[in-house]
Amino acid sequence: MSEKQERSHKAQKVLERMGQKLNRQMVGSLVACVHCGMCTESCHYVLANPGDPTYAPAYKADRIRKLFKRHFDWTGRVFPWWVKAGSVFTDADLEELKDIVFGKCTNCRRCTMNCPMGVDLATFNRMARGLLVSVGVMPEGVAVVSKDQWETGNQMGVLKEDYVETLEWMAEELEEELGAPAADIIPIDRPDCDVVYSINPREVKYDPRSIADAAKIFHVAGESWTMPSEGWDMTNFGLFSGDDALGGSVSRRLYEKVSELRGKRLVISECGHGYRSTRCEGPNWAQYDVPFEMESSVITMLRYIKDGRIKVDKTRNAQPVTYHDSCNFARSCGMVEEPRELLNLVCTDFREMYPNRAENYCCTGGGGAMSMSEYTPQRLKSGKVKAEQLKATNTEVVITSCHNCVDGLTDVIRHYELGMEVTQLVNLVANAMVIE
Ligand code: SF4
Ligand code: SF4
Repeated sequence: MSEKQERSHKAQKVLERMGQKLNRQMVGSLVACVHCGMCTESCHYVLANPGDPTYAPAYKADRIRKLFKRHFDWTGRVFPWWVKAGSVFTDADLEELKDIVFGKCTNCRRCTMNCPMGVDLATFNRMARGLLVSVGVMPEGVAVVSKDQWETGNQMGVLKEDYVETLEWMAEELEEELGAPAADIIPIDRPDCDVVYSINPREVKYDPRSIADAAKIFHVAGESWTMPSEGWDMTNFGLFSGDDALGGSVSRRLYEKVSELRGKRLVISECGHGYRSTRCEGPNWAQYDVPFEMESSVITMLRYIKDGRIKVDKTRNAQPVTYHDSCNFARSCGMVEEPRELLNLVCTDFREMYPNRAENYCCTGGGGAMSMSEYTPQRLKSGKVKAEQLKATNTEVVITSCHNCVDGLTDVIRHYELGMEVTQLVNLVANAMVIE
């Protein structure tokens, strides 16, 4: 289309806002690609769709890059045909871009690890998502989950009374085993504690046993801890949607609640994107000077065992297990050895899957993909790579430190009929724990 053609209001806004989002890190990645193709085979979408170049990371990146070249880089203004600069004009152009940035990439950053030029596609793919979201162009699931998190403070729209009721229910379940009153097993809104524990709303809705297991561990360790009645969701859909304002609002809610309770440390339950959002990105999004420490519950559990605060008998977890590294937890936050150290303390037969650590493949549910049902067929197709990895471990249990990955892996396991179970470290630790 000619540059003289009129632009839709939304397309115009996207281009204007792109200029406000460009920073050194973003521009570095937008200009550095030399199209060597070394990242191509890193992407699980490419491996599952041989012969289809539209899944190649550099191809997908170029759909965003062309806008930068045309509007913000002098080479594209002078020689647009030479540097493949281009623009967006219509709402249909934006829809096409939406299908690439939301539907063909999980922002897993595996291609980044394999790029000699340090191009971080996921960073500007997220920016492109945010630009589209700002003009209302997004998958329906993204709109629904974002709205829930804006309005209720948690991305599954869990009401405060349901959340508190679930905590009380879990505490009551443990009363007999732990010989303590429910209010002391899961203390709610207790001020001046050493630990404030934040969770993923999925735990309230679908997996309350992980709350009970964590409570059991804190209780046996004799921890001074509490769970907040509000501002308890450590997940953040802003990371997936590219909406920094949502990211900041969600993080701030959590930080302010911990500050109000005068908690000394915020412990984040096992969730890759939740950990990355809360611990790494949130302070920037929220412009908040966080006055307390933040750590993953994996570190907390490991410390309890090493310090002798809890005793474990690893023979209670004797079945062969493998471990799936979450993209956000391992690749983006470097949490690779701590989960393995913990695994080896609480189970007897841990088998690596290959590749692993920062080179592991996405569960397919990253980047909020589980909420975008229109892309489910291509997501499950891309899961072929994960399914092969899982199958080769010869185990029936896969552990992961991410609630999002629990869902992504469960879907892949079901689709490829692998007959495996997915669980988390908190469940293994609680099962191995010796209660005297
Ligand atoms: S490896 Fe890096 S430089 Fe090469 S095509 Fe991929 S993104 Fe571009
Ligand atoms: S970030 Fe992940 S899904 Fe996206 S292109 Fe790179 S390897 Fe593929």
